[in-house]
Amino acid sequence: MIVSKFGGTSVADADAIHRLAAIMAGRAEERPLVVVSAMAGITDALLALASVVHGGSRDELETAIGELIGRHEAVAMSLADGEMAMATVRADAEALLASLTAAAGRRLRPPELDYLVGHGELWSSRLVAAAMAGAGLRAAWVDIRPIMVTDDRFGRATPCGHLINTRARDCLEPLLDEGIIPVTQGFIGATPDAVPTTLGRGGSDFTAALLGAALGAARVEIWTDVDGLMTADPRIVPTARTLSAASYDEAAELATFGAKVLHPATAMPLVREGIPIVVLNSRRPELAGTIIEPAAELERMGDSPIRFISSKRGITVINVRAPRMLGTYGFLRAMFEVFERHEVVVDVLASGEVSVSLTVEDRSRLEPVIRELSDLGEVWTEDRRAIVSVVGIGLRTTPGLASRIFRAVPPANVEVISQGASAINMTFVVREDDGPDVVRRLHQEFFGD
Ligand code: ASP
Ligand code: MG
Repeated sequence: MIVSKFGGTSVADADAIHRLAAIMAGRAEERPLVVVSAMAGITDALLALASVVHGGSRDELETAIGELIGRHEAVAMSLADGEMAMATVRADAEALLASLTAAAGRRLRPPELDYLVGHGELWSSRLVAAAMAGAGLRAAWVDIRPIMVTDDRFGRATPCGHLINTRARDCLEPLLDEGIIPVTQGFIGATPDAVPTTLGRGGSDFTAALLGAALGAARVEIWTDVDGLMTADPRIVPTARTLSAASYDEAAELATFGAKVLHPATAMPLVREGIPIVVLNSRRPELAGTIIEPAAELERMGDSPIRFISSKRGITVINVRAPRMLGTYGFLRAMFEVFERHEVVVDVLASGEVSVSLTVEDRSRLEPVIRELSDLGEVWTEDRRAIVSVVGIGLRTTPGLASRIFRAVPPANVEVISQGASAINMTFVVREDDGPDVVRRLHQEFFGD
């Protein structure tokens, strides 16, 4: 079997959904399972409803939901079974409106927020199932929530792997065996008590991977609006090229520090089984895309040492200098406990004898972190920074790459340098304004344009 996941832009309107149906018609023999995101922009629009509930009137709320339904209706009009799909979407929207009205004037609680934002996927999957039926495919809409069991960390719930495996097999395999194509939702799940949850923004890729692992997929396809993973962000480097292949580790680096093509956790469930991920463009399905597969395979291909250069803006560097760190133990633990207590994610870390530098992206909870770190030593921060990462399996084995990298960077100043334990990335920090230029110079160095 295969899993084919379609992102928001690949279900954005009637044309996109018809293209999806045509793509799946070409795959019907492969026992496919279809996972979809919400239509582009709908998740953001649903999130924005939360503030209408808080500060707006009932009329405003009704109008806002009406607009969302209108976008779905415009697609349904072009589908043979569209009216039936819309009946369900409308009923869902009624129930949603009723529960949001009951919460009028206050902030939504995390479970209410997850219930709200999960509707985009529930609705888009109805339309996709109808479009596929209209294209003559035997498609069946499936509610993923009872299958995608998670904990109750609303907004970024963690899936329960073993439960998902058995439930996915029990619920989905009988359909596949009958030659039916299940059409289901990415991003959403539910607690064991059936309270709706979400896996975090961009989580549909993760859903596809979890289902692919549970069902022993031959591959997991991620359909999007770019040709695949690229040697650099094409908005920064217009000559950037599509990669034909990448390893799981490389893809994870790119997902964390680069383009948002793939959710960073996507490869995780697939690594053990060695199931490949293929990133494809739903507007140009004839292209081969990028295949992401086990590192061993790639090393044998003897590709270029560098796979891509990525960058991420909006970074803050935190420096902690503490002479008492010298020759003692427990210092790093004390430091990281501060970050853990405030749930602040640390991206890049570099450590010397008496100082540590690290980077964070989210500044919202930084103030108490810095206050508590000051008990450990002298603390200062630098904001408006960018992380630049040069990534490739070849970094592990090719001597002299570091000098090539750092020769290409000046006149920009390099601030924090780190080579990951897997030794497939060389990562450093520069001023945000220097970022694009540094990426271009590195691309020139390693890809010649
Ligand atoms: N619709 C969700 C989001 O916008 C999940 C996804 O697209 O993967 O984050
Ligand atoms: Mg996505």
